[in-house]
Amino acid sequence: MENKPISRTLRLLSQLMELHEINPFKIKSIANAAFKVDKLPYAIAEKSLAEMEKIDGIGKSTAAKIAELLETGTIKEMQELLDATPEGVVEMLGIKGIGPKKVSIIWNELGIENTGELYYACNENRLIEAKGFGLKTQEEIRKSIEFRMASNGKFLYARVEPEANQLLDDIRELIVGALVEFASDFRRLCEVISELVVVVGTRDNEITMNALSQSALLKNITVEHNHINGELENGLLVDIVCVEKRNFYKELFLQTGTDEHTEAVLKRINDEVEQPESEELIYIKSGLSFIKPELREGTAYIDRAENNQLPQLISYHDLKCTLHNHSTWSDGVNTVEEMALYCRDTLKLEYLGMCDHSKSAVYAKGLSIERVLQQQEEIDHLNKKLNGIYVFKGIESDILGDGSLDYPDEILKKFDFIVASVHSNLKMDEEKATARLIKAIENPYTTILGHPTGRLLLSRKGYPIDYKKIIDACAANKVIIEINANPLRLDLDWRWHQYALEKGVSLSINPDAHRNDGFLDMHYGVAVARKGGLAKEMCLNALSLQDITQVFKNKRSH
Ligand SMILES: [Zn+2]
Ligand SMILES: [Zn+2]
Repeated sequence: MENKPISRTLRLLSQLMELHEINPFKIKSIANAAFKVDKLPYAIAEKSLAEMEKIDGIGKSTAAKIAELLETGTIKEMQELLDATPEGVVEMLGIKGIGPKKVSIIWNELGIENTGELYYACNENRLIEAKGFGLKTQEEIRKSIEFRMASNGKFLYARVEPEANQLLDDIRELIVGALVEFASDFRRLCEVISELVVVVGTRDNEITMNALSQSALLKNITVEHNHINGELENGLLVDIVCVEKRNFYKELFLQTGTDEHTEAVLKRINDEVEQPESEELIYIKSGLSFIKPELREGTAYIDRAENNQLPQLISYHDLKCTLHNHSTWSDGVNTVEEMALYCRDTLKLEYLGMCDHSKSAVYAKGLSIERVLQQQEEIDHLNKKLNGIYVFKGIESDILGDGSLDYPDEILKKFDFIVASVHSNLKMDEEKATARLIKAIENPYTTILGHPTGRLLLSRKGYPIDYKKIIDACAANKVIIEINANPLRLDLDWRWHQYALEKGVSLSINPDAHRNDGFLDMHYGVAVARKGGLAKEMCLNALSLQDITQVFKNKRSH
């Protein structure tokens, strides 16, 4: 064994001991030994126990641990500590910027047990309040987790978007007059991106390839056939496909849809479409109406395109309001009034729904009954005072372990609408989770089912649910399902939107904003809603103020 893995193991042991608050003197000596081993100019594994004991900074007891590690592959004391620590907590010890003391607070006081939850907690500002943390530490932790999340080569769409757009601009600037478009999963608005594909069409391929390969647009550039491969600064792989202008649209079409999709379309063409002047032409020749890039997953929409029945996809400008948002009453950063003014003046929305956390969400300063009443008084006052924006009184009620909501009925009925979400006890099997959600859906006060699976993309799998049963229950109880627009959630997954829509279940694009700029996440919600085939008629927050008021009232009278 080399020195590196030995020193890494000793460091982990010292971190675990610190996490579990074991004798600080011992911790220090093991941490020192870890540092020492790393710096030794020879392999410590080749030394005898007696020789190890004599090395300055190692000592008898640590030498025995190293010997045990070399002999058995582990250290018993460390194994016991590992057994007493959730796997996700051990992983958090590896995050830059937080030592064992902070991890201990995160784990024991905030109840956070893995990196994904920690990342989301940064978004909800839960760290700022904890001892020894501040806005700056929270920001550092968030960045370093983002870096780790990207280390397996996959990126959230939202994290890729700014650099991707920059790259496209740079290519356009470098190769004047070229046709340049994104393709593949980024153009299809996929929620997770593993490679950014760009198609470039010019008159002279050779000149283009030379210019691109000699540019500083990408790191680690390699050239193969007509592809320029490289990486963005953040590590995302990029594939630039260079073709002659006359082949551009065919290539763009081929590079955009999944293979299953492009094959199904091309199979329908009898005569040639060698050099189409647009993608539309390819679909026309196939006897199909034009299928937007975000719908080009498999063959899902081919039949509907043949019968001219494609959905009119929703766009951001169709949204009239934003529901499910958190203010300073619970764990948000802005006051209700600040949020209302931002929605009115900057986002040009007509109304807004506040949904602070309910009383069981203690970590998020969930509202006691008394505070619910105070907040409602404030909202009534704001609605009298403010023109041009209406604020609905909502709550994000925790779905408790048994599926019930978080307040007695006489309080529940005071809200205009209720988003019901699971935030605790996420470790459930499918049967338990499905039953718990259905109980909440059947509650007559539930208006919207919030983030149905609790997933955090790239970092936490949601609890398993029986999607069909959940959606059927929503249909039966006239409950709307949220598309949580936070780029980490995007839950309800777009793959289930069509099933929900077929059952007559409306969807609501909810930013779950915890500060004013959180509202902008609705753009990502719209992206996956389009991908799911949502039209504005079936989107709750695209309804007029009058219509949504009626929806809330109808739900109440049931
Ligand atoms: Zn929530
Ligand atoms: Zn929320």
